[in-house]
Amino acid sequence: MTFDHKSLELLGEALRTMDHGFRHLPESAPAPDLEPLRNALREAAERMTDNYPYQHPLYIGQMLKPPHSLARLAYALAMFLNPNNHALDGGRASSAMEKEAVAQIARMFGWETHLGHLCGGGTIANFEALWVGRELRPGKSVVASAQAHYTHSRLSAVLNVPFAKIAVDQRGRMDVRSLEKALATGEVGTVVVTLGATAAGSVDPLPEVLALREQYDFRVHVDSAYGGYFTLAKNLEPETRAAYDRIGEADSIVIDPHKHGLQPYGCGCVLFRDPGVGRFYQHTSPYTYFSSDELHLGEISLECSRPGASAVALWTTMRLLPLEPGGDFAHSLESCRAAALALHQALEQDERLTPLFPPELDINVWAIRAESASESSARARKVFAAAAERDLHLALSSFPRVMLEAANPVLRWDAEEIICLRACAMKPEHQAWMPEILSRLRASLAETLETPDP
Ligand SMILES: *Cc1c(COP(=O)(O)O)cnc(C)c1O
Repeated sequence: MTFDHKSLELLGEALRTMDHGFRHLPESAPAPDLEPLRNALREAAERMTDNYPYQHPLYIGQMLKPPHSLARLAYALAMFLNPNNHALDGGRASSAMEKEAVAQIARMFGWETHLGHLCGGGTIANFEALWVGRELRPGKSVVASAQAHYTHSRLSAVLNVPFAKIAVDQRGRMDVRSLEKALATGEVGTVVVTLGATAAGSVDPLPEVLALREQYDFRVHVDSAYGGYFTLAKNLEPETRAAYDRIGEADSIVIDPHKHGLQPYGCGCVLFRDPGVGRFYQHTSPYTYFSSDELHLGEISLECSRPGASAVALWTTMRLLPLEPGGDFAHSLESCRAAALALHQALEQDERLTPLFPPELDINVWAIRAESASESSARARKVFAAAAERDLHLALSSFPRVMLEAANPVLRWDAEEIICLRACAMKPEHQAWMPEILSRLRASLAETLETPDP
């Protein structure tokens, strides 16, 4: 078995508790004919096996992490009501739970006051932050590093805001001198600082960016959709730690509970340091906002209908696993990072491979040594496929020469990019599974590169 079946028992118990709260209502529970449901559901289960096994520790490829079993249960429980967190009319309890959950995330970054809410994901969360940035710095541009998520250039186009990429250093971090050159033009309104870039987990030097605010006027938006929770981890390198320690000085922050926060997809979060930016969201609704004078979340978010179930799942998960340094959740992130460090060490010792640099978070990237860049890319594709044949699921990602040259994987640069292997060690179990992962990787390398296993 690779799935947790046991915790499903708790759903029945919780459902009875919820039913009890509505016992004053006349009986109305529908009794579905189970047979047709069973057939359709079995078909769906069969279809779902045509997926990579995201639930298994041998899946160490893309940024995919199954939700905590508690998040799954709480989400399913909320589904029986299907609250809509647009307005208190649609989800009174779940809106309150969202406000509490979001406040807990804000406190993790040191904010006692904030404006923020959950949303569909990092894309819409970043969209809102860039939009507020545009309203506050009209006519000015957005800049982000060349390793920042592609969403920033795309969203800037949607917002009709000029966008420019800032060069990165060897480790994929924003190059502060290039940033300063851009700032010196006087055209920049918002600097996107990525803490945990999607491809390699690089962490931009936030303290140096903040220092530039003494000279230039710009907003700092931290995109930590992937990396935000690592602020709780104790095993970061000092430079990485220094960036996290200043996160509270940003104007806005994005974090995705559906990436490292153990939540099902559909759970992003945007936070603003100044609650006053709520004025940009101001609108009236002819349909809703009548049930209470208290804040309806739809009054401070761009999306209208939103799953209250996301808030219920997040809130419940944080009851079990509060966002505390030294707590169980923090330890689980530390295990992910320890797994990545162990993988890095093993990769370094294999002369067929060359890791680009030590992981800053829990993402490893490595190139296959070869005569030329194109040959290295071709080999990476072959190893990727051979590993998948052995049920070891890695990812591929291409990186620019500037991030590869220090690792020196090739003799001849016949291309400006190399396709590398990439692994996101997002499950704490990856630590215990690392010997098995490495053994399958070595077998895949031996087969593909036709060299004996060292
Ligand atoms: C994943 C990610 C995004 C996009 O978020 P979605 O939740 O996929 O919409 C943006 N920025 C970074 C750094 C990310 O890792």
